[in-house]
Amino acid sequence: MEAIVLARRNFKEFDQHITFYTKESGKVELFARGVKKIQSKNSAHLEPFSYVQIEIAEGKGVAHLTKVIPINFFAKIRQNFDKSMDAGFLCSFLDQMTEVEEVDSRIFELFLSWLKFVDKSDKFNNILTDAFIINLFSVLGFYPILDYCVICEKTYKEMAKDNLLNNKKLGFYFAGGGIICPLCREEKKHIGEQIVDCGLREVSNLQALLKNDWRLIQDFSMEEVEQKKLHKLIYEFVLFHSEKKIEDWELHLNI
Ligand SMILES: [Zn+2]
Repeated sequence: MEAIVLARRNFKEFDQHITFYTKESGKVELFARGVKKIQSKNSAHLEPFSYVQIEIAEGKGVAHLTKVIPINFFAKIRQNFDKSMDAGFLCSFLDQMTEVEEVDSRIFELFLSWLKFVDKSDKFNNILTDAFIINLFSVLGFYPILDYCVICEKTYKEMAKDNLLNNKKLGFYFAGGGIICPLCREEKKHIGEQIVDCGLREVSNLQALLKNDWRLIQDFSMEEVEQKKLHKLIYEFVLFHSEKKIEDWELHLNI
């Protein structure tokens, strides 16, 4: 079956456990015997984010990897530092966010389309990584509500009519699943719930990441300050919903 390598972990001297995200069976962890031996044909094809065809033998306990046929190694991603850092990060991110045997072919297609696009493209914009993550979270059931206040359901038009958008701040209310109007935000503040600033500009940027294809997202022109704000918002959103310790995927840019 078609699979993308997410991770490989050593097991005894020559063996490894390899984690794949597959089209048909979601995330799988397989035992690869002898894969670390120098003459192992399979080893080179099993680097993270390689796209491969695999064959499996169901054994007692853990299933065995019996055959690997390479489909795409994404050489141009590997030759570019930014691209390969982000692709590698997305592998470990997907590994952390998904459970074995939860099948969702949309996740597979999303990652494969990202890899194919980034591999072919001459440039690379880190916004593509943020876009992948917010789209992944949408597939995982955290599609942010961006068209109206999640509490009172006022649209932006109605907020403007009620004079709510002058000098008052919209927010992103993570626990509520989306945008909160300034009035409802005031009330929630008293209870002490976590709400982060999110202006109309960030709302439309987020919508753009959720509704456009990779090419449009890559060419999306955004000031650096704006892009940083958007990234911070997505990162906080991820931290809130994943309840895991996730490293900030843009930090390698500052090395
Ligand atoms: Zn409201």
